[in-house]
Amino acid sequence: MTSRGRLVVITGPSGVGKSTIVSEVLRRTDARYSISATTRPMRGGETDGEDYYFVTRPVFENMIETGKLLEWAEVFGGEYYGTPLEPVRDALANGEVLILEIDVQGGLLVNRKMPEADYVLLLPPDEATLAQRLTGRGTESQDATAERLAKAVEEIRIARDSGVYTIEIINDDLESAIAEVVAIVNQEST
Ligand code: 5GP
Repeated sequence: MTSRGRLVVITGPSGVGKSTIVSEVLRRTDARYSISATTRPMRGGETDGEDYYFVTRPVFENMIETGKLLEWAEVFGGEYYGTPLEPVRDALANGEVLILEIDVQGGLLVNRKMPEADYVLLLPPDEATLAQRLTGRGTESQDATAERLAKAVEEIRIARDSGVYTIEIINDDLESAIAEVVAIVNQEST
């Protein structure tokens, strides 16, 4: 293939179903996943080098200093998250579609360097549904859930105000949301 690759940046608040949608899109298309680096501890069921590159703070800070990251952020609880630059360059050079599943702010940073990428904002049908989904996780205290909800609402506001996320997909029906992202990856008209 000689065409240049593309980046599809997918963001959305916590609890919107980002990971579920992205993993299904990866299964159904040729798109590749940009594996982020993070300092947060590995969770059960996660694999190093697949879900994330789990690294120490000094290693992450070295990646920042040596320009190895396209963007990075210090997110929840002071953990670092960042997008390694090299796989992005490779994907673009090799004509591949690379999916970046990152937070709203990270997407905005990517936009400064790569405005030509597709920017997708996944949204819940409404706030009540999002609250329910966040509670439904059952892995956090009520306070933590309330905090996540407030953060989610704020993230949506920032994303919308930025004007960067020109593709909005409401995850009302999971199957349709997946199909819409698949269409974007395959560059079908949506
Ligand atoms: P989690 O710890 O639940 O896997 O992810 C927490 C948040 O970090 C999510 O909103 C996720 O999208 C975001 N995130 C994951 N990777 C990156 C990245 O490389 N850069 C940025 N800015 N955010 C990321």
